[in-house]
Amino acid sequence: AGPPPVTRYNLNNVTITNDPVGNRENVLVLTPMARFYQEYWDNLLKLSYPHELITLGFILPKTKEGNAATVELQKQIAKIQKHGLEKERFKSIIILRQDFDPPIPSQDESERHKMANQKARRAAMAKARNSLLFTTLGPDTSWVLWLDADIIETPPTLIQDLASHSKPLTVPNCFQRFYNAEKKAMDERPYDFNNWQDSPTAQELASKMGKDDILLEGYADMATYRALMAYMYEAGADIHTEVPLDGVGGTALLVKAEVHRDGAMFPAFPFYHLIETEGFAKMAKRLGWQATGLPNYKVYHYNE
Ligand code: GDP
Ligand code: MN
Repeated sequence: AGPPPVTRYNLNNVTITNDPVGNRENVLVLTPMARFYQEYWDNLLKLSYPHELITLGFILPKTKEGNAATVELQKQIAKIQKHGLEKERFKSIIILRQDFDPPIPSQDESERHKMANQKARRAAMAKARNSLLFTTLGPDTSWVLWLDADIIETPPTLIQDLASHSKPLTVPNCFQRFYNAEKKAMDERPYDFNNWQDSPTAQELASKMGKDDILLEGYADMATYRALMAYMYEAGADIHTEVPLDGVGGTALLVKAEVHRDGAMFPAFPFYHLIETEGFAKMAKRLGWQATGLPNYKVYHYNE
């Protein structure tokens, strides 16, 4: 036997178009997962993008909670991949276990969102996202959909809808349903404040910071006066309205694979005083790729 055959990929044959279904484009759906939510999984299964073109990638921490989530995830995967209908099955699925410990043990929302915990937490998240990305991005990947494990409701056409804009980075608006005690009825509120347009105030704050300090969004102690996409939602307006963004969150985010292939990743260190997904938007921009937000296109975050 001779040497093993060489596989050649011409990256210019891997199309990334506004008609990804028609052009049979491969999508990599990447999810960092600390907890398994059945609603996330059910929503994922309902995505109408052809499953045979979707590869799923997960990364889970090696904590007690991460172990439990891994067991549950594997159970659900077996159901679909072994016993599901042909059209339900995904092209392939990769599960990674993190090789480093999370910086803070508690995952409660109040603890997670404390300002003092942000730098270490976001740095760890950045590393988790990078590990996941660099081990799963393939030569035939056209799109990467970042989808957090607590996104429990999206339109089934999420991938097609976001891709139809044909932008390097496309972000829907992430909301959260909750029980409004005043109104005595279900209601919803904006959730992801990492989708923003920069402001002179934030620039000014950054210019006076130490080189390892980071800007954070959504904290009263650090008023940035950035324009937040979370507040740009207009009821009844066109769901395809576009706004340019300077910072993005990772709850749901569609990225052209070439943006990642160019080297745009999630800085685990202050990059222009930005970290993780917000740093990613900045890095993409430095590489010539502009982020686009869809303020009227909603997806929903779990409510703890
Ligand atoms: P928040 O919504 O901004 O409060 O952030 P989350 O805590 O929900 O984290 C974002 C995503 O990363 C979710 O999908 C989590 O399940 C996941 N996640 C959170 N912490 C870790 C971690 O330590 N390791 C990994 N691999 N994923 C995590
Ligand atoms: Mn979350």
